[in-house]
Order: sequence, then structure tokens, then C-alpha cells
Amino acid sequence: MKLCEIINVGTELLLGEILNRDAQILCDRLAGLGISVRRALTVGDNPGRLREDFLLALGRSDIVILTGGLGPTADDLTKETVAEALGLPLVEDAAQMAKIEAFFRRRGIPPGESNRKQALVPAGCTVLYNENGTAPGCFIRHGEKAVALLPGPPRELSPMLENSLLPLLAPFGSGVIVSHYVRTVRLGESRMAEMAAPLLDMENPTVAPYAKEGEAYLRVSAHGETREAAEALCAPVIKKLREILGDWVYAVDKDLAQTVLDLLAEQGKTLALAESCTGGGIAARLTDIPGASKAFTCAFVTYSNEAKISMLGVSRDTLAKRGAVSAETAREMALGARERSGADIAVSVTGIAGPGAEGTDKPAGLIYLAATDGARIIGEKMETGRADRGYNRVAAAKTALALVRDLLSQPRKLTVNPK
Ligand code: ATP
Ligand code: MG
Repeated sequence: MKLCEIINVGTELLLGEILNRDAQILCDRLAGLGISVRRALTVGDNPGRLREDFLLALGRSDIVILTGGLGPTADDLTKETVAEALGLPLVEDAAQMAKIEAFFRRRGIPPGESNRKQALVPAGCTVLYNENGTAPGCFIRHGEKAVALLPGPPRELSPMLENSLLPLLAPFGSGVIVSHYVRTVRLGESRMAEMAAPLLDMENPTVAPYAKEGEAYLRVSAHGETREAAEALCAPVIKKLREILGDWVYAVDKDLAQTVLDLLAEQGKTLALAESCTGGGIAARLTDIPGASKAFTCAFVTYSNEAKISMLGVSRDTLAKRGAVSAETAREMALGARERSGADIAVSVTGIAGPGAEGTDKPAGLIYLAATDGARIIGEKMETGRADRGYNRVAAAKTALALVRDLLSQPRKLTVNPK
């Protein structure tokens, strides 16, 4: 298999100002081509260090892809550095120059010297024209090896990669790498990994555990000559994982919000939310998905006690005796949301997001949820033990969706009656 290295150029990456999204896009797309990314390195806008790292990468890999530093400004030096290191002169590309001139003609001003610099490309390269910006990319054959330069902004890089570079890299790929994600909620990464342990040592496919904000999932990746061959390697392992993990698995590849929306749509049911500590976060997850309106009706974001009373009919007495963060309040919120929205199902969340205890003696990470479909009401208490506001809010939103999934997918198991 051909080995690839990525070099992301940009001091802003090293200062932590921006996330290295380009590396993520490249790693994801190259894996699909059967090109193995062995290293991804970030370098600042410094020609000396860039030259050194570029030559090292070229020495040990078949393909080197650099991102960023192709623009017209003084700190954009990737093209010059790479051309010099490869011993290639920079030459003017007539088509790129015509594009630049046309661009400035439309604006009624002549291009400056720095703009003209953007028509210079390493001699003999294939120019990758930029449909979403001014800096062209390029693809250079260097003996048996290949070097590619792509612009930094992801919205320029992504289409150029897809439309121009991947077809040029296809001959370097050997077969295809296919990945699937077996997703669980509530289980926890270590317990999931223990259960899946017999499958974690395989070579093709590989099975690797991951945890992310209240979810744990297993990535199953196989390398095959064709997509079909790779899929055929994955399928029995995914089946086995489903058997081992049972009901903990809510879907393969699909996220939880989409899973819940699909279940609601299949059963022709609607959902309403009563959110306190998640502050609309569950609604945001659902409405991120096109077509959510088929099943999602509304969210009551009731942060204060007064809002819980007036919008959801939670009793003043319950709030006084049990507090806003309690199983009873969660229950009354869910019942109120269902009744007032007319939805088939309602789910509620109330908790201490943290980092502090917010004036109560209850700990950050204590969260109560309830869900009802009219016939049944189920509840859940979470104690994350974390003071991390972001984590607690996301974990609460996911558990709320998991409760809705329980109501939709386990019609008989849950037999608690509402009062
Ligand atoms: P431009 O013509 O916009 O100057 P460029 O190819 O010279 O493009 P850079 O100057 O390195 O690219 O980066 C421009 C912007 O692109 C950065 O400020 C940043 O917003 C974004 N960017 C650059 N590299 C990355 C990266 N690796 N991941 C995500 N965004 C990036
Ligand atoms: Mg730039």
C-alpha cells in the first residue's frame, strides 16, 4: 500500500487559533482510496522548517500533501519552498493568469504584483484550478512519488480535493478502506471494550473503541481490493458486535438524533421536549437534521422555576419540596410538555450542568430525565461526577434521546404507569 504524509502549514494552527480541519478531511478521503496516511504534521509559516520537514516526508513516503500557504501574502511560502526543494523553477501558468486578470477586470482594478504571483506554479506540475478562491493548487510527479499542494481554507480545499486531486491520486491507491461505526449510548467505553475484547485484536478488519460525549462506539475498518470485498470483511464482524452488545447498540453509522427521528417517522409519532439544563440543545440536535419537522413539534426551554410552572404546569409544591433538579420535577415537565404540545411523546431534562452547584446542595452532573408516551412514563437519573458544563449538557441531551428510543423500540418492556 502506498504511504502518504500530510503537512499542514500555518502558524495559526500551532497557536491553537484554528482547528486542523484540513487534516481531518484529507485523512477521511484518502482512507477511502486505500491510501494509508502514516503521519500528519503541522508546521508554522517558516520556510526553513517547512523545507526540512518536507524533504524528510518525501524521503520516507510515496505521497506528500501540503495544505495552506498558497495565498498572495508574504507569509504564504509553501509553493516557493516546495519548488525550491524539488529544484523546480516557478513558471507562469497562462490559464491561471487569465483567470486572475478576468477576476480583476470584473472589479475594474488591475491585479497587483502579489496577485500575479498566484499564477506562478512549479514547472511541469498539473495545476489544480480553484473554483472557490484565487490560489491554485498543484500536483507534481517526482519520479515514482507525488507531491500535492492544496489551499488552506477548507471550503477551497475540499472541492479541489474531490474534483481534481483524488482522481490524480487514484492510481496510487490499492483497494479501498471501508469504515463503519457501531454506536452505543449509556454503556461507557471501558465496559464496551471489555465486552468486545475478543474482537479487538484482529488485523483486517480492525476494531477500535472510541468514546465521545456520553457515547461509546466501535470503528470497524477493513481493507479490500474492492469496496464490496472490504464490506464483506466488515459485515460478519458488525453482526457479531451487535450480538455481543445487544440493545446497547442503537445504530450502525447513524447518529442518535437521526435514529430517533427515523423511529418516530416509521411509527408516525411526534415528539416534544421540555429542556432545562440543556437549554435547547436537544432541539438543536434534532433540527440540525433535514426533515426533522415530520416528527419534532416543539421544545419548551424552561430554565426558571416560574417558566416550569407557567409553561409546563409543574406544581409549585413539587419545586418547593423536591427542587427543580429532581425526579418528580422531570416527570411533571415531561407530562406537561406532552399535554400542552399535543405530541405523542415528550421527554424532559433538568439538572446541574456545572461547573458550580448553582446555589443548591446538589452536585454538578446530577441530571434527572423523564419520557412519556401517555401510556407509560420512564425516568433516569444521571450522576456524571463531572463539573464540565459542556460535557454534562451534551451527555444529558444524548440520554434524553436514548429515553425516547427506549419508548419507541421497547414497546413491552417498559410498564411503569403514570400517576
Ligand atoms: P489564502 O489564499 O486564503 O491565504 P492559503 O492557501 O494561503 O489561502 P493559509 O493562508 O495558510 O492558506 O490559510 C488561510 C486560512 O485558511 C486560515 O486563516 C484558516 O482559516 C484556514 N486554514 C488554513 N489551514 C487550515 C487547516 N489546516 N485547517 C483548517 N483551516 C485552515
Ligand atoms: Mg494565506
